[in-house]
Amino acid sequence: MVISEIFHSIQGEGPTTGRPAVFVRLGMCNLQCNFCDTPYTWKPGQEDYSDEANERIVEEIAKLLIAHPGTNMMIWTGGEPMLQQRDIVATIDYLKERIADRVLEHEVETNGTIAAHPELDKRIDRYNCSPKTAMSGNNTYSVRLRDYAKTIYKYVVGTKEHCEEALREIERQKLPRDRCFFMVLGTTAEEMLQRSPTIAEVCKKEGITLCIRLQSVLWNSARGV
Ligand code: SF4
Repeated sequence: MVISEIFHSIQGEGPTTGRPAVFVRLGMCNLQCNFCDTPYTWKPGQEDYSDEANERIVEEIAKLLIAHPGTNMMIWTGGEPMLQQRDIVATIDYLKERIADRVLEHEVETNGTIAAHPELDKRIDRYNCSPKTAMSGNNTYSVRLRDYAKTIYKYVVGTKEHCEEALREIERQKLPRDRCFFMVLGTTAEEMLQRSPTIAEVCKKEGITLCIRLQSVLWNSARGV
């Protein structure tokens, strides 16, 4: 598995915001967003990841779970974790035996470009899908994860124009608005709070859920927290 970091923290985005979780941040991504907050998972020259045996990774995750008995959620993030579905499936299965006394929920954070294999899908409880629009510097694409019951769609927006672009995409792809979030662009609390009132007005008008990245509010751009 190509892995960047494993750590215990709280979920900072989406419908499970605030819940304690063990994060597994996978290396590599198939997009190149100009606002990426984890360039060390993919950017040439900034790579901070390694290819490691699943056995060592599962032990590290198990140790964190044992150290935090109240945590029952795992977040598979990146980079783009859907590039490594087979390894995620294998690790979840290892963990099921290793931490047999706990039922774990599994959440995947993905850009939505890669469909879930059925073997992964049956082990995953939620997808936090963050489709990228043209403002990210990537070409626009249609989300390939369309299991509405399990998926929320989180657009990163910093201006009214970003919101308008995201709304056009939501309409074009017929995504359910009650499962769409606008997450305020920024890596520090100051940046996000400064932009939030504008985004909040659009959310009120359009029926979209506003969110800010709680981890950035609490710890700015620190890693592994
Ligand atoms: S999809 Fe996510 S990890 Fe990949 S470049 Fe964009 S923001 Fe970074």
